[in-house]
Parts: sequence; structure tokens; C-alpha cells
Amino acid sequence: MSEYLKSTDYVNAYDLARDRRVISGKVRLTDMPRLREEICPTDAECVFEIKGMTAKKGWPGAVMTLAAKVPLICNHCGKPMEFPIESDVLFRFARDEKEADSIPIDDEDDTEVVVGSEKLNLMEWIEEEILLSLPYVPVHDYACKSDIEAPKQEEPKKENPFAKLKDLQGLRKN
Ligand SMILES: [Zn+2]
Repeated sequence: MSEYLKSTDYVNAYDLARDRRVISGKVRLTDMPRLREEICPTDAECVFEIKGMTAKKGWPGAVMTLAAKVPLICNHCGKPMEFPIESDVLFRFARDEKEADSIPIDDEDDTEVVVGSEKLNLMEWIEEEILLSLPYVPVHDYACKSDIEAPKQEEPKKENPFAKLKDLQGLRKN
């Protein structure tokens, strides 16, 4: 599927689960308004696949698979960074908020609860999951901050004019 998901794309959550439908496609990151406020300008997209299923215990649900590289600003150095999302999440559909609240949180099976309906907005559902996957404080996965602070600490050192001369001589040889 080459077409991008639209903000008006809905699915009937219960049909999806019962018929084990599979929906796959792409969604532009900047098409999602809440996400757009959290990220850098980008033309990046998220690839998704949603597979309807019925759990062994009988409840309807779906597995959502997401893959995206989200452009964020590093909180340490202020430079751009890409945060990769590769997730596989099992959702259980609840009929309404009341039922959703009554489902005990089970840390073992790692299931998330979403209020499934006959008109479940796909983009909002995916957007919510991406937002939940983003780090609270984004930082590079390498020591980017030490690169910036290092020169400051070295500044007070007095320059040795002879050392400089030595460097120049070294350069000339090259
Ligand atoms: Zn950084």
C-alpha cells in the first residue's frame, strides 16, 4: 500500500478483531497534530501493521506493529537526533471508558487497553502509541554533552609558545 493514512480513516474495531483483518500502510509523522508539536520538521513516515485477533480468554483485540525514526532535539546538546521506534503492542478493545477502567492492569501480559468502537480512528490510535513510545527526555545515546563541555574546562590553560612553534615545525615537515 503506497497511500498514506488519512485523519479520516476509521475501522470497526470489532469487525477487525473478529475477521482477523490486517491493515498495513504508512502515515506521515507530521500529519499527526499532537506528534507534530513534539518533533522536528520532517518528511519521515511511520510504517504500521495492525492485525485483528481474539485472545484465548475471548476478548477482542489487535496487535499493532510500528516502525519509525522520529526526529527529536537532544536535551543535552540541543542538536537533532533520531529516535527509532520498533514496537509490537498487543491491544485489548474495551467497549467504553468504564470497561477500560475496570480491566485490571496485568504487568505480565503487557497488554494495553484501547476503547474500541465501531469507528476507531486509526491515525489517532497510532499517534497515541507513538507519543507513548517517545522518551520523556530525549538524549543522544552517546556522550554528546561531554564534547561540548570539554573545551571550556581546558580554556584556562596557558599556551606555551614553544609548543606552538613545535606544532608549526611539525606541519612544515608534512
Ligand atoms: Zn546530544
